[in-house]
Amino acid sequence: MENKKVTLVIPMYYEEKVAEECYKRVKENLEKLENYEHEIIFVNDGSKDKTLEILEGIAQKDNNVKIISFSRNFGHQASVTAGLQYVTGDAIVIMDADLQDPPELIPDMLRLWEEGNEVIYGKRKSREGESVFKLFTAKMFYKTLNALSDVEIPKDTGDFRLVDRKVVDTINSLPEHNKFLRGLFSWVGYKQVPFEYERKERFAGETKYPLKKMLKLASDGIISFSTKPLKLVGALGIASIIISVILLIYALVSYIFNLNNLSAGWTSIMVAITFFSGIQLMSIWIIAEYVGRIYDETKQRPQYIIDKKINIK
Ligand code: UDP
Ligand code: MG
Repeated sequence: MENKKVTLVIPMYYEEKVAEECYKRVKENLEKLENYEHEIIFVNDGSKDKTLEILEGIAQKDNNVKIISFSRNFGHQASVTAGLQYVTGDAIVIMDADLQDPPELIPDMLRLWEEGNEVIYGKRKSREGESVFKLFTAKMFYKTLNALSDVEIPKDTGDFRLVDRKVVDTINSLPEHNKFLRGLFSWVGYKQVPFEYERKERFAGETKYPLKKMLKLASDGIISFSTKPLKLVGALGIASIIISVILLIYALVSYIFNLNNLSAGWTSIMVAITFFSGIQLMSIWIIAEYVGRIYDETKQRPQYIIDKKINIK
């Protein structure tokens, strides 16, 4: 019987400080696996430091290392999406370059896969060395996302997971461009099991996820998995109509009964105007976010541009 093959997909953005160590640790653990071949796909997401150089050096010595290099920074989700297009293995592991997701866990994940599970997703039992701010925002994000979305997206789950080739093929066949992967992996179904682990501290360097990128990821996640914010716009509209009807009745009543209490109406008018224009602008903004995404998709522009491929036919 032919050996099965494990593919690792690892995105890198300005990871010159971790690239070498990442390869070493991953390779060590892959070589321990008996009866499995392996391949490692590194995606260089437009880093301008030595990341690519280091990776190229590794790929020269090791044919199982493949590199996809982008023409510029397209983001973490785009990098993983690109990597998934080139996998040739039977089981695919997606992990971060910074060794926060320990490669030592791969054998255990493979065992679960051999038992017939098709998506083995890493669930963070604890997180070392992450700021209170990050933990709090992450928690809020998953709360909001699950309140809004129709598919259950497990909390404390990142992109670290082992998936069956079948699932990757399904994800690759989805036509949407802006892929929010951890949502899609949950959405596609199949046999899923959580895999608890302790998330380690970053091996070296700094996080490549500043607040701006986190917010983009969060809004991508919410918008691609829920239309509830749009319905919220409707609810806000109805609420403000009700409020204005109440105000109208109040005004009529005071007029009819000659209460003369509305002459000094400046404040109330200002409050009403600013409040309702606030609601309107907010509603337009929510709609604009969706329209913008629709616009993006209709342009059919690729999610990333590959500048260079190494060890890939
Ligand atoms: N990453 C990427 N493109 C980006 C930002 C991040 O490919 O624009 C990669 C990064 O190199 C790492 C992974 O995505 O392998 C996760 O990033 P990071 O560890 O900085 O995020 P954090 O763990 O702090 O959430
Ligand atoms: Mg990290």
